[in-house]
Amino acid sequence: MSTESRVAIVTGAAQGIGAATAERLAQDGHAVAVVDLKEDNCADTVARITKAGGNALAVGADVSDSDAVEQAVARVADVLGPPTILVNNAGVTRDNLLFKMTEVDWDTVMGVHLRGSFLMSKAAQAHMTAAKWGRIVNLSSTSALGNRGQANYSAAKAGLQGFTKTLAIELGKFGITVNAIAPGFIATEMTKATAERVGVAWEDYKKGAAAQIPVARVGAPEDIANAVSFFTGDAAGFVSGQVLYVAGGPKA
Ligand code: NAP
Repeated sequence: MSTESRVAIVTGAAQGIGAATAERLAQDGHAVAVVDLKEDNCADTVARITKAGGNALAVGADVSDSDAVEQAVARVADVLGPPTILVNNAGVTRDNLLFKMTEVDWDTVMGVHLRGSFLMSKAAQAHMTAAKWGRIVNLSSTSALGNRGQANYSAAKAGLQGFTKTLAIELGKFGITVNAIAPGFIATEMTKATAERVGVAWEDYKKGAAAQIPVARVGAPEDIANAVSFFTGDAAGFVSGQVLYVAGGPKA
């Protein structure tokens, strides 16, 4: 079954998993809004998509800011057309053990992952329900199963799984599917920053992670982009409310 050309929004798409996902969705034939905190930071992703013959728009927006989200989604609809694919990928970590975790650490992580996904989904679903077709993919994590030093992040990522299942129930009748992907260790700036914080050289950190992963390697952003491509395609129309662990094994 081939996939029709649509308009997709990928948040946090300046780098890492979001950038690879934006590029993959462009290869799939969709026009892609590359959303990140600063519009300038989206330029590289947009340039790679354009060079490959795709259609992309850079949009600066903080997904935890409701006015910014409203404006961003409206601009995408004006310039590219009504968005019917949304990938809630923007993310931050503020790791610390519970007794050292500040309220700001907690609120920041909840703000980007949960509030951000809520605001983006609420704004985008208006276009999807009108089109009677839509795809929402939320980025969870194996950390949802629990991870030392990540009380805030694991709570947010577990929360996104409940959010996913509820939206799947509410929006299904409009032809909208909602799924979550829970990556294990993916080599990006996020994991690189963790290596720096714990004082382990990046190559050693990846080697240590790979030793714990059944397929004996760490993940690449493209591993996640492939899963997003499946969930957002026409062929996945009967798959909704699912959480797919993409972690090189049953868990990382
Ligand atoms: P990344 O390289 O740090 O990229 C995340 C992007 O999101 C950055 O460009 C960041 O911008 C942007 N962002 C942060 N806050 C934002 C906001 N409020 N509004 C808009 N954009 C914002 O991270 P990644 O590794 O690609 O991770 C992507 C997603 O996958 C995240 O949700 C993450 O939690 C999840 N994940 C990653 C892994 C992994 O191993 N890497 C594993 C499981 C799940 P700035 O750089 O300017 O902050």
